[in-house]
Amino acid sequence: MKENVTEIVPTNVSYSYRILKENIKELKNTYAFLKVGSIGHSVLKKKIPYIKIGNGKKEVLYHGGIHANEWITSTLLMKFIENFSRAISLNEVIYGKPAKHLFSMVSLYVIPMVNPDGIDLVTGSLEKNSNIYKNYLEISKKYKNISFPDGWKANFNGVDLNLQFPAKWEEAKRIKFSQGFTNPAPRDFVGKEPLTEPEALALYNFTLKHNFNLSISYHTQGKEIYWQFLDYEPPKAKEIGEEFAKFSGYKLTKVPYNSSFAGYKDWFIQNYNKPGFTIEAGIRRKSTINFTVSRNLS
Ligand SMILES: [Zn+2]
Repeated sequence: MKENVTEIVPTNVSYSYRILKENIKELKNTYAFLKVGSIGHSVLKKKIPYIKIGNGKKEVLYHGGIHANEWITSTLLMKFIENFSRAISLNEVIYGKPAKHLFSMVSLYVIPMVNPDGIDLVTGSLEKNSNIYKNYLEISKKYKNISFPDGWKANFNGVDLNLQFPAKWEEAKRIKFSQGFTNPAPRDFVGKEPLTEPEALALYNFTLKHNFNLSISYHTQGKEIYWQFLDYEPPKAKEIGEEFAKFSGYKLTKVPYNSSFAGYKDWFIQNYNKPGFTIEAGIRRKSTINFTVSRNLS
């Protein structure tokens, strides 16, 4: 007989920072083997949590929620943690592998929400008459063709956190400036320099402190997997990417040129020459049956 397990992570709500914190607490209470910590804080001083599963020698990093309107990747990672944890505690198999075996082989670090400030804007968690909300609105007024708040990807300062990494940052700057993103914006502003934003710096420093063999950056959307930066070819990266593609049905492909620089994955590959992936999860639905998916992917 199956044990009766209550679901902790909801997949049918706008996934705010408050829900994230509550879910992490409850997961930790339910699955004592999870280790929880913080990589640093956001502009508005929210702690950016990480969750560690497993105690193996091999270290792996997943992160999501770096682009505010892609917060569904936070839900995705939290649900994955819940499913993996349940499989470990019930001694079950997950995706064909004994969960306990994975637990002993790998130390998996998951940072489900790199951009909690931006996500609170897009998930409707802010009072409309608050100064914080008005500040976002002020920035967005200069970009009338980007819908507000749904089109917001940046952090509170209007910097795109996935254009902050020291991997051909100047080229990212050249491209985005030529597109008109020369100042704080809902998306695509690279900042004044690399790593000026606390969220990007926290992710950078956390990575330097570890010895990650592989990283996955979760974004939306398009059902695509990116694995390259310039002409780097980290050993095994292509094979692993092909495996991911086969398993998921996603397409292993090239990054569009204008998005090829200054992302976390780009820096990870450049700095370590190890497999680093961006996964563009899911696809926009034409119907409005699923509110969450149809409204918020971009
Ligand atoms: Zn993204």
